[in-house]
Amino acid sequence: MAAARGASPRARAGREYRPRRRLGGALMLLASAWLLATAPAAPAAGKARVRYVTSNGVRYLYLADVADLFGLRYEAGSRSFALRSRWSSLVLTLNETEAVINGTRVHLSDAPWLSKGQAVLADVDFRLLLRPIFNPNSLQRGKVRRVLIDPGHGGKDPGTHGKRHQEKDVVLQVARRLEKELRDLGFEVALTRSRDADLSLAARSQKAAAWKADLMISLHCNAASPSVRGVEVFRMTPQGARSTYSLQRTSGACRNSPWEADNARLAYEVQRALVAGTQAVDRGMKSARFAVLRESPCPAVLVEMGFMSCPTEDVRLGTAAYQDRLAKGMALGIQRYDASLPRR
Ligand SMILES: [Zn+2]
Repeated sequence: MAAARGASPRARAGREYRPRRRLGGALMLLASAWLLATAPAAPAAGKARVRYVTSNGVRYLYLADVADLFGLRYEAGSRSFALRSRWSSLVLTLNETEAVINGTRVHLSDAPWLSKGQAVLADVDFRLLLRPIFNPNSLQRGKVRRVLIDPGHGGKDPGTHGKRHQEKDVVLQVARRLEKELRDLGFEVALTRSRDADLSLAARSQKAAAWKADLMISLHCNAASPSVRGVEVFRMTPQGARSTYSLQRTSGACRNSPWEADNARLAYEVQRALVAGTQAVDRGMKSARFAVLRESPCPAVLVEMGFMSCPTEDVRLGTAAYQDRLAKGMALGIQRYDASLPRR
């Protein structure tokens, strides 16, 4: 359901972010506070300016300039665009919201389009998706100590189900395994529910606030037609961005807004480690304004661990071996997110 959007909107004006000021040498990247926040830790000899265009009130950046800023090589094809270094890669496709970062699928707010023959990318995708991944100095959270695991549904709300299993049971079983994995890695861990009980959405985020969680991970299983399978990780849709399954742009802040950059890095790391650990189909890192994400007082992700409507995934979601792989993958993603944080 990867809807292509934002096909070639008409650009109003070509501009630069800041007046061109060449300060020379090492100071070249210090041209503005904005650029200071985006400068790679070890910048290549790139230009310190990022040109942009505004279309329908939305700011888009030239991809070639973004590559320079990150110190990446830029390769432009007729429909696809790659930013690469020896260690990392970003591949984007014209008019497609799906991109690939280091082999992991991610869903952009806006599809790249051509302005005067050059590819541009939404500023919100740059600031709150690419930059947290290519330059973690932009992240807020200093260190993760406490992880709150939220097994979805429970009690009178069974969630979805397959022929064999119910979502509320599978998510609790995986939550207990994830709890053990994270404790072994040295994190403090709590669960929003540790048995089959009713729990409102509000009570879940209240628990995160009361316990002063540094990170929240909500576990779910999905349902669609029988052939659909795979894992996907949701982060909260940032302000000014579009959710993966919506054409509407979000407006207004919410409780979780301070963590928009962190959510992106966390979701990316969890998606990447989960796909590698389970060999499941990579359905990509997505965004939505689910209540449990919106109301979270700390960086948060919602993991859809598989499709119970797919008979083979329904079976394996109930096995100890597969639940262990899910738990280990998510724990590794959280550990990598924590390791990426700037120590302050
Ligand atoms: Zn669910």
